[in-house]
Amino acid sequence: NTMKLSDLAMEMGVKAPQLVKVLMQNGVMANMNTDLDFDTIALIVPEFKWEAENVFKTADARAEETAFGDLEAESIIRPPVVTVMGHVDHGKTSLLDAIRNADVAAGEAGGITQHIGAYSVKLEDGSLITFLDTPGHEAFTAMRARGANATDIAIIVVAADDGMMPQTQEAVNHAKAAGVPMIVAVNKMDKPGANPDRIKQQLTELQIVPEEWGGNTIFAEVSALKKTGIKELLEQVKLLAEVAELKANPKRSGTGLVIEAKMEKGKGPVATLLVKDGTVEVGQYIVAGHMKGRVRSLTNDKGERVQSVGPGLPVEVLGLEAVPAAGDKFDIVKDEATAVEVSTLRKEQAEKSSATPNAKMSLEDIFSKVKSGDVKELAIVLKADVHGSLEAINGMLAKVSTPEVKARVIHSAVGGINEGDVTLANTAKGIVIGFNVRPDLGAQAKAKQMGVDIRTYSIVYELMDQIKAAMAGMLTPDI
Ligand code: GDP
Repeated sequence: NTMKLSDLAMEMGVKAPQLVKVLMQNGVMANMNTDLDFDTIALIVPEFKWEAENVFKTADARAEETAFGDLEAESIIRPPVVTVMGHVDHGKTSLLDAIRNADVAAGEAGGITQHIGAYSVKLEDGSLITFLDTPGHEAFTAMRARGANATDIAIIVVAADDGMMPQTQEAVNHAKAAGVPMIVAVNKMDKPGANPDRIKQQLTELQIVPEEWGGNTIFAEVSALKKTGIKELLEQVKLLAEVAELKANPKRSGTGLVIEAKMEKGKGPVATLLVKDGTVEVGQYIVAGHMKGRVRSLTNDKGERVQSVGPGLPVEVLGLEAVPAAGDKFDIVKDEATAVEVSTLRKEQAEKSSATPNAKMSLEDIFSKVKSGDVKELAIVLKADVHGSLEAINGMLAKVSTPEVKARVIHSAVGGINEGDVTLANTAKGIVIGFNVRPDLGAQAKAKQMGVDIRTYSIVYELMDQIKAAMAGMLTPDI
């Protein structure tokens, strides 16, 4: 009984490179196509709070139905899924509206758009691009924290008259941490003070270098208000997607993510699904998270009832027995019995993982985790009151390492510690450090709920001493 690494990643809802990394940490060299046996899978899945038997069971349950012959041969390039992120007021919502208006298919459908949490636009050449409708990185990180990768490409919006701001940096760091390729949309080009060169200059500080300066990031100049440059931006997204070769097989049974879900009067549970692979059809049995059901109706983002929906596209589904959570994985299964089986397994899995302590990091246990080979780096989200100290501490932390472990700042910014910082640290299994800043109430609650370690300091050497001591196993646990 073996399983291909890429299939295992899909089954567990994690990124294949993540699996490769964990395998390598366990001394197994692997790539996307490596066949893994049961013992190997049993070795690494606890890291992701899965049990090997369950991976196989869910896979088997679905494979029975997905007996469509040579799956590889059937694969097509699916539409990319794009998230728009950036600083508040830089024009994320306006850009999403402008893009929606650029949809050539919107005219065909009579122009009635339905807000279901995501929409797809058709370019003149017929190719499709799907956009998540919730701008900002909160939704992005919340999904990632649940192990879901909804996004293939991130558009970072920067207002040309304002320049790089704290949330611009956060957005860039989130995209980088997720390994998602970025395009920068320099917005508000219609404004008199627009200065795109200044933005390019500023972003090089984050190692985002425009192509024309020898880097590999595309900068598109747009005005969401005047709707200029939108076509060009979409063209660039399409090119980036082509490079990424996002393959899917419309003939297999549908699988993907829940983007949003709610209870609606008269309709029952309503969920918007993003189909990442395969096809979803009316009448099929479905499991979303651990909620089961049978697809009663499908409505697309144009408000049209459809019989089926293919990979890379969003769709609103009715027929689930209860409301799943955003970020939950969904699967089409062959019959009711399988739906019951899979949902029961997942329920047990969910109960189990909420009962077992997470693979969380606190400063105290970094050393023991390093010794046991569990971690190789201490991921840090760093916040400080002023730029000067932020840069100084950043520089010092970059040099902290022992032969076994090194400190890595995954995000640093000026300002108080907020929920986003905690979510980011949680996703990276790291900690949050504040220098002369405190966590706000939201961050405190989130940290408590997620079990993320927040440390605040007002003396630089104390901060450095504690980090070094923790990494060397010298930190007394009562601090
Ligand atoms: P968000 O907070 O990033 O979603 O930003 P919004 O889309 O809400 O836009 C913030 C403000 O900037 C609004 O008043 C918009 O009308 C304005 N705005 C957005 N895009 C443009 C643009 O291209 N040009 C100009 N002049 N104003 C814009």
